[in-house]
Amino acid sequence: MNDCIFCKIIEGQVPSYKIYEDDKHIAILDITPVNQGHSLVITKKHAERIENLTDEETAELFKTVHKVIKLINKKLNTKSIKIVQNNGKEAGQLVNHVHVHIIPFNKDEHVNYPEHRKPTNEELKALANKLKM
Ligand code: 5GP
Ligand code: ZN
Repeated sequence: MNDCIFCKIIEGQVPSYKIYEDDKHIAILDITPVNQGHSLVITKKHAERIENLTDEETAELFKTVHKVIKLINKKLNTKSIKIVQNNGKEAGQLVNHVHVHIIPFNKDEHVNYPEHRKPTNEELKALANKLKM
């Protein structure tokens, strides 16, 4: 049996506050929001990580993220939005079903990044060379 909480939400076995739905995604309010309006766009297909989606499914997911951001902006008059996609345990993924966090910010509070490093130009160049396709 599939024990995934997001699959259960999609199937209606667990209640949620749904703010958007199409044939491939739902968007719900996060149960423990960072800020008011913190929402999750969730694929209806159970896939653990973004690498398990096809190119097309990933594009569709982000089209829906775009729609939901516009919805939240319009409805909540949001100043700024943070998009977060925790992809894997080490990155903080707790629910192993692909989802994108949309987190509104109206003041620059709670934006607690880890300390920023200041890489040298050489380091940046080497990394860019390594990463570019
Ligand atoms: P992750 O760390 O996996 O990116 O975040 C999972 C998110 O799902 C968390 O922000 C958590 O609050 C949210 N969440 C977990 N269980 C439920 C639930 O049953 N309902 C809703 N609406 N959100 C949930
Ligand atoms: Zn699932």
